[in-house]
Order: sequence, then structure tokens, then C-alpha cells
Amino acid sequence: MLGRMQDWPLRIMRLIDHAEREHGSRELVSLWADRKLTRTDWAGVARDSRKLAQALERLGIRRGDRVATLAMNHSRHLVAWYGTIGMGGVIHTINPRLFDDQLAYIANHAEDRVLFYDAAFAPIVERLKSRWTSIEHYVCFDPHDDAGGFEALIAAESGDYAWVEGDEREPAMLCYTSGTTGNPKGVLYEHRSAVLHTLAQVCPDIFNLEARSVVLPVVPMFHAGAWGLPFSCAAVGAKMVFSTDYAPDLMCDYMRSEGVTHTAAVPTVWLALIQYVEATGADLGKLKSVHIGGSAAPRSMIAWFNARGVRVGHAWGMTEMSPLGTVGAPTGDWDGLTEQEQLDQQCRQGRVPFGVELRIVDEEGQMLPRDGVASGRLQAKGPWVVAQYFQDENGPCIDDEGWFDTGDVAAIHPDGVLRITDRSKDVIKSGGEWISSIELENAAVGCPGVAEAAAVGVRHPKWDERPILLVVKQPGIELTASAVIDHLSGHVAKWWLPDEVVFVESLPHTATGKLLKTKLREQYRDFRLSSAA
Ligand code: ADP
Repeated sequence: MLGRMQDWPLRIMRLIDHAEREHGSRELVSLWADRKLTRTDWAGVARDSRKLAQALERLGIRRGDRVATLAMNHSRHLVAWYGTIGMGGVIHTINPRLFDDQLAYIANHAEDRVLFYDAAFAPIVERLKSRWTSIEHYVCFDPHDDAGGFEALIAAESGDYAWVEGDEREPAMLCYTSGTTGNPKGVLYEHRSAVLHTLAQVCPDIFNLEARSVVLPVVPMFHAGAWGLPFSCAAVGAKMVFSTDYAPDLMCDYMRSEGVTHTAAVPTVWLALIQYVEATGADLGKLKSVHIGGSAAPRSMIAWFNARGVRVGHAWGMTEMSPLGTVGAPTGDWDGLTEQEQLDQQCRQGRVPFGVELRIVDEEGQMLPRDGVASGRLQAKGPWVVAQYFQDENGPCIDDEGWFDTGDVAAIHPDGVLRITDRSKDVIKSGGEWISSIELENAAVGCPGVAEAAAVGVRHPKWDERPILLVVKQPGIELTASAVIDHLSGHVAKWWLPDEVVFVESLPHTATGKLLKTKLREQYRDFRLSSAA
């Protein structure tokens, strides 16, 4: 048949070309560890990225090579992304909060050749240098008096550079899961997967980004690529606001002074911010949209933002999904719902954008209905979902029909809304039935005086497992175990009530700010329950 459309590979560098051409003067602001601000714009990021691409070629980096970062969020980190990808390299963002053994493993497994790092992480670099076998060049992001740092590296270049072109299926970015069990696994994002993810992310029901948006990605660039925001902000020409520090007082001031409209982070970050605002009466400026994901957003947190006119996008995703899976947005019948019903809806994890397909299956792999009742293993498909981990001898991680098993347990409602009930490893199995640790925790966090809570299964002679609840109190508050149980009774089935409430000073977290359930399970598995005596 005569006629065809243009061949325009979905390459990431087209995003930065677009931002430079159409939104070149739109600002990017960075707040550094020394509390100084610097400003650049999309044209500046594009210019510096071309210089960095040249510099990397000068260092002998070739197409497909991995260039790592160990850094918080700032514009130089962004230049490292676009400069590396622009010369055909693969940007590998390392999470500096991982343990030394994981840090050693990840960089060696990725065969990183260059490492860009923040001065704040220089001690990590010093400790691990002798264990990292492939890194040839270490470049500090922070300005140096002596020659050396990042600015000196790019200052030597002209910026007269054309991005490396190629197939849209070429790799561009490497992110490792935090590997709560076994070694971390690498997910290799491709140009095409990242661009498609970007197009979905900016949509109204998803992140609702536009040229007027002012976006503060609190989520670090090393946590599933700041959830894709550095790409989607370029796509729409949004202003980006970066910070290397998330102290609540700093964040509130910064959000006000830069006019931040959109932000995104894991729930633990918001817990601290909410406590600060409650204590000081600070205001959130022009903030109108908060995305919460990485762990389930507690109902009380969603209600708090609702009361301030800030839209909550409750998001579910994972590194393996680039990371966007679902986001909560008003459903068609929204206006007819009461406030409490709307809140019920927001506590769920929302719906997929075009590009993601989900289903739930039982233990035998049989598909379960989308009735909001049945819950089973959640599986996903789509052009930005992993098919095989990086350099993984186990081969593909999808089944014959292309489904990837997420390791989460969920229900899907008839309107397509997802409800995550647990991670399959965290679910508490009591008397052959499942108790959702997430629901228990979220109900507990809604109890006045509870700062944070974790529900874990403890061995039980009759029931197999019974839940206990570990609770961190808010400072200076009197709180008893029976008050917590009373509160929970109004929210969960009686047989779900924890057999014991244990008050603890603090709870352990993973490198991405989630409750470290593996450690808690180990620690409390053999906890002596008085009910089991
Ligand atoms: P890591 O554990 O390495 O931080 P991810 O950030 O990719 O890895 O974690 C993905 C997992 O986080 C999901 O499989 C799910 O268990 C959990 N998760 C993410 N968002 C939510 C949410 N909104 N509600 C409940 N669980 C979530």
C-alpha cells in the first residue's frame, strides 16, 4: 500500500531537544548541601549535557557503557543523565543508602566505568574504592578549588556535539531494586520504554503535568529515576526544583519561595512534613498536587492533604515498571460520592494509564475476577514493564503470555481501581486466611498518638501466624496498647486485631524509606505471645 508515516525513533534525547527548543528559558533550581541556590534552564541543561557527552567520549567511554551516579537531586545530576544518554551510554543511578556489600555488588555487576558523586558521599567512595573493580574515573559533582570536579570536566568542552542516534530499543538507564532478599536486580530501561512512560506520566489522571507546573521531585533520582519526573518535566517544559535535603522546615520554605505546584515522595517523607506543619502552622504555598507511592498512603495522610485543597495522587509502581503502574484519580461517579466514600476510593491505588495491563491470579495461576473482593497475585504487562533483569542468568522474568509477577497481592475493583493488600512476603497467614499488614498499619497510623506502625506475623501453634503491631509513639504522648486496639476495632475485622501491641523507639527502613519487614520478621518471628501460652 502506498503511503507511510515518518520514522522517528522514540529516543530520550528528543525530550531534551524539545525542552531546549520550546521551553529553553524555563528554570531549573537546585538547593545544595551548603544551602546555596543555583539556577539554570532547559537550554542550559541541554548545553551542559552536550559538553558532558563530549567529555565522556574524551575519557574513552563508548556506546552502551555504564556511567554511575551516587548523588542526591540537583541539576548537575540531571546533566549527568542527559549527557550520558546523549553519547549512547547507560546512566546507572546508585542508591547511597544501601549497605556496603550491596554498593560493592551493584557497581561491579553493572561494570560501571565512571562514577559521579556528591561530596557528601565521598566517605562511601573512599570505603568502597578498593572493592569496585570496574570504575576508572571518579568525578565529584561539587565545585572543587583544585582542578577535577564536574564543572572543570565540562568546561574543557565546546558543546558542539550531535547526540548519538540509534534504535529506540537501545538501553539508556539502569536501576537496581533494593533487593530486600538476595542480591539486588538491575532493570535496564530503554529509550522507547522511557519515552512511552513519559507520555503516560504527563496525562491529567496520572501526574497532570503542564508547562506551568513547578515540580519538586522529593523522590530521589536514585529511586526508580525519581519516578520518571526528570523526563516528563522536559516533555512539557515544567520548571524543576531540586533539593539535596528534605528537612521539613527547609522544604516548606523552598516550596513557597519557588512556587512549587507538584511534588512526589514516599509516605515517610510526608509524615515528617505533616508533623512540622501541624506544630508550626507553616503553609504549603501554591502546592496543588502530591503524589504518594512506594508504600501505601495512610488514610489520615490523604485526608490531611484533601483538607488543604491539595490533590493526592496515590501511586503504585515498582522499579520493574519504570516505575509507573497505577495512580488514583477521580472516577466517573466521583461527584455522587460522599467525602468518606471519596476517601475510601483514594486509599486504593488507582487505575492504570494506557500502556499498562494488570490482572490477578490465584495460587494455581488461574485468573481471578475484577470484583473488588477476590485477591491474588498481581501481574503486569506493558511496554515499560521489565522482561528480563540485567545480566541475569535466569533468563526472562515473564511467563509465556508476557505477564510479569509483581510479588504484590491485590484486588481489582469492577471500575478498574487497584487495591494492594500486601506484598506476598509480608502478608500474615492466620488460620488459612490472609491478613493484610498494610491495612492494619494504615488503620494504626490513624490512631491519635501513633507516629508509625508495623504489623508482622508471629508464629502461633494453633493459627500458624498471628499479627503483632509494633508502634512508635508521637513524642510526648501518652498511649496505651488497649487504646490502639480500641481504635483498630473500628477499622478491621475482629480476627485481624493484633494479639499484642509492642511499643518501640523506632522502626527500621529500607534504602527507599519503606518499613524493613524482612528484619522485623526475623526479629519477631519467635516472639512469645501470651495468647499462645
Ligand atoms: P524497592 O523495594 O527496591 O524500593 P520499589 O520501589 O520498586 O522497590 O518497590 C515496589 C514495591 O513497593 C511494590 O511492589 C509494592 O509492594 C510497594 N508499593 C509501591 N507503591 C505502593 C502503594 N501505593 N501501596 C502499596 N504498596 C506499594
